[in-house]
Amino acid sequence: MKRILWFTRDLRVEDNPLLSLGGEVLPIFIFDEHILKKLPQNDKRVTFIFYHVVKLKSDLQKIGLDLKIFYGKPEEIFEYFSGFDEVVASGDYDSYARERDAKISRMLHFRYLNDTYIFKPKEVLKDNGEPYFVFTPFYKKARAALPSKNIDEVKIAEHILAKEDYKGIQKIGEGRVALELKSIGFVKENIEIVTPHVKLEEFLKKIDAYKEMRDYLATNATSCLSVDLRFGTISMRAILRALFSLKGAEIEPFFRQLIFRDFYAYLFFHIPTLETKNYKYSFNGIEDNEKFKVFCEAKTGVPIVDAGVRELLDTGGMHNRVRMVAASFFTKDLLLPWQWGERFFASHLLDYDSASNVLSWQWSAGTGVDPQPYFRVFNPYLQSKKFDKEALYIKKWLPALAHIAPKFLHDEAYLLNNTIAEYPKPIVVHKEAAKKAV
Ligand SMILES: Cc1cc2nc3c(=O)[nH]c(=O)nc-3n(C[C@H](O)[C@H](O)[C@H](O)COP(=O)(O)OP(=O)(O)OC[C@H]3O[C@@H](n4cnc5c(N)ncnc54)[C@H](O)[C@@H]3O)c2cc1C
Repeated sequence: MKRILWFTRDLRVEDNPLLSLGGEVLPIFIFDEHILKKLPQNDKRVTFIFYHVVKLKSDLQKIGLDLKIFYGKPEEIFEYFSGFDEVVASGDYDSYARERDAKISRMLHFRYLNDTYIFKPKEVLKDNGEPYFVFTPFYKKARAALPSKNIDEVKIAEHILAKEDYKGIQKIGEGRVALELKSIGFVKENIEIVTPHVKLEEFLKKIDAYKEMRDYLATNATSCLSVDLRFGTISMRAILRALFSLKGAEIEPFFRQLIFRDFYAYLFFHIPTLETKNYKYSFNGIEDNEKFKVFCEAKTGVPIVDAGVRELLDTGGMHNRVRMVAASFFTKDLLLPWQWGERFFASHLLDYDSASNVLSWQWSAGTGVDPQPYFRVFNPYLQSKKFDKEALYIKKWLPALAHIAPKFLHDEAYLLNNTIAEYPKPIVVHKEAAKKAV
């Protein structure tokens, strides 16, 4: 059996099922032209991915293998692999990935080895075989099934590196093509890359505080592992093993979030139309380019929303609580189409994941499967007063507000009635906007 090991959302050697099969293999990574051609040269994610692809190549070399790195259209690159028996990859359920993989499966036998998520999409079903559309029963069933799941570290098998019997296809890092970002047309961005196991270790020391503190913006109480889960630079099973090895610690709230991630991918698998269409209600917001621009430039005059957008633009990250507040403000106070907000986040989030992003936006807009009720509109001022009382988060991202007393930054009337140098007045009056939205 001669296999292509296609690394996609699993950029690591450790605990990777792809490396458990053995035999004659060719490990590959494809910088997908379909995706990359739409991105700006300074896309932060490409810096992150490139760093990990280079590391993966070096780690594979340490076990006698190598990584062939391509730039192009996957369906064209796979034409060169006709001498192989199959391709194996970790699961990916968004519409682009499914279409891409379906095309390739017509050229070469295609097999998913479940790695990206805890459960396969048809593993957690109701007793009548139907999928769950509500989170809590899904969670209960998934949680009950977990102890019987094998989460042991996968063993790396013996391999032979397949000889390349194809020519005329360019590889990054071979011949005259340097192993550099500029070889694929991108520039290196200044982003912080922290070893995921270090993040996990640090997080586990404070996991008991996760439930109480995760929403407080200046506390650093969450794991920051979403980008690693997105690109598989840490194994989900390694996280689960670490959680279950803790004696007496409060692991359930964190575990619940991991299951949430599975649930969103599961919904995408079972209801593909969710990616672009409302599940509930036909209302799609009101298109308004001016309001959209103001939001994207962090100029709404609502401090917590602007601070979040600033964090996003500067780092590619945004605290979960602020994502919720910002998405509610976008869809309810500004009445903009959730699809616009989703695209804006998609173009900047380092941890961008189609299922988590789309369904979180649909949750905020009240249009998705198991969404928050349409009449629940976050009050951004009460949210910041509660979760950023001293305005440390707000001031970190909006230096123009550094000299304003925290209490005024949670006070809509103050912000509407006073002029602050280099900071706009709120674009809407929250109570009126919320009433209109409902
Ligand atoms: C509007 C909006 C858009 C979002 N877009 C994305 C996205 O594109 N990619 C993404 O990974 N998450 C997204 N989330 C979910 C969440 O904000 C991030 O997963 C979280 O902020 C990542 O930080 P963390 O790793 O410190 O999370 P932790 O609190 O440490 O959580 C652990 C892990 O659980 C998962 N998780 C946590 N919260 C959620 C959630 N609400 N939904 C799904 N998975 C969750 C993530 O993989 C996360 O790494 C979005 C949330 C909202 C409200």
